[in-house]
Parts: sequence; structure tokens; C-alpha cells
Amino acid sequence: MRLLLIEDDPVLSRSLKTDLETAGYAVDTAMDGERGEFLGATEHYDAALLDLGLPKLSGLDVLRRWRAADNGVPVIVLTARDAWYEKVDGFKAGADDYLGKPFHTPELLARLQALLKRANRRHPIPLDLEGVMLDEERQSVTVDGGPAVALTAIEFRLLRYFMLHSGRLLSKSHLLERVYDDARDPDSNVIEVYVNRLRRIVGNDLIQTRRGQGYVFGRKA
Ligand code: CA
Repeated sequence: MRLLLIEDDPVLSRSLKTDLETAGYAVDTAMDGERGEFLGATEHYDAALLDLGLPKLSGLDVLRRWRAADNGVPVIVLTARDAWYEKVDGFKAGADDYLGKPFHTPELLARLQALLKRANRRHPIPLDLEGVMLDEERQSVTVDGGPAVALTAIEFRLLRYFMLHSGRLLSKSHLLERVYDDARDPDSNVIEVYVNRLRRIVGNDLIQTRRGQGYVFGRKA
């Protein structure tokens, strides 16, 4: 199980990460809202722990952006204990649960387990399109029932992004932003390279080029 922890208090972030790792979770951390929003939009997490008061982008805005993009990752909002209005705002923005600070780690773990149990009962988005089946656990893909092909981290993220946005026109710069870690790298040719690698795996006709505009995942209608 992989968790995203978005918390700008370095002491709390470190101690929570340690506690969660001890409890058997893999934990990615973000110290501001922008970075957290990016990670939540581009990586797959089983749940996110979201502080509301964050630099760059507030926790509520992070949550609103994810939900507007149909990202249903289960979210526990961390609020000040007596700020009941923050809880209301959090639920309105799409939070699944909340926890008032300061809290005891066993309560967080119990809420997390309950949330993950509920979330796993829902049907996950099946990443099975046009004969392409993406295995998110193994980061591999099978095409038309063939053997599983292992993907590199960027190939996986790019294919996952394509499949979650099939039929939509995606520009190179948009894709670069969503799947490439180093956003300072301005060279969108790197996307071309990865698209060509993916085409060799899933078939040429599945990722269409719109000249000067970008790419569309899916066969021509
Ligand atoms: Ca904070």
C-alpha cells in the first residue's frame, strides 16, 4: 500500500512517515500543496493524508483539483481539532475522513485501515482498454492477451496517463508536466521518445499523432 502524505510541518511529517512505514506502508511526502497535487495527479496512491494549511496551494484546492480531474484517491484531511468549519469544507471538497490535530497515531492507523477497506470494496477504474491491460501493481502491460511486458517508471506513468485520458488530445508539454519528474527539463522531445517506445509495445495505431498538437490514445473511430 502506497500513501501520499502532504504536510508542511517537517517535524510532524517526519514522525508520521516513520510511524506509517513501521505500520507497513510505503510513504511519499510533499511539503507544499503544488508538489502534493502533482504527485497525487501523476502517481497511484492507495490513500492520501492531506493537511489543509499548506504553502503554494491550500489543501482544499489540492483536493478540489483532484476531484475535478476524477481522481478518487481516498483522502483523510488533517485539521486543527476545534476547526469544525474546516471539516465541513473538507467534506464538501471531497474528503473521505478527517482527523483533528494533535492526534494519536493508533487513531490515524485505525481510520486509514477502515478507509482502505471501504475503498477496495469499490470497483477500481479498470485500466483495460482496446486490448491493452495495465497491471498497476507490477507496472507491466499485456497486449491482446500476450505475455506481460515490464515497463520503466516513465513508460508506466505515460501509458497510465494515456489510458486514463483516452480519446483526449494531449499536448507534449502537458504530458511532460504530468509524467516526467524533472519539470525543469524543457525538452518535450523526451515525450516523443517515450511515445515511440510505447508504440512498439502496444502497437503503432493505438497512439495517434496530431501534428503540431500532440497525441490521442485510442484507435481511430
Ligand atoms: Ca500546515
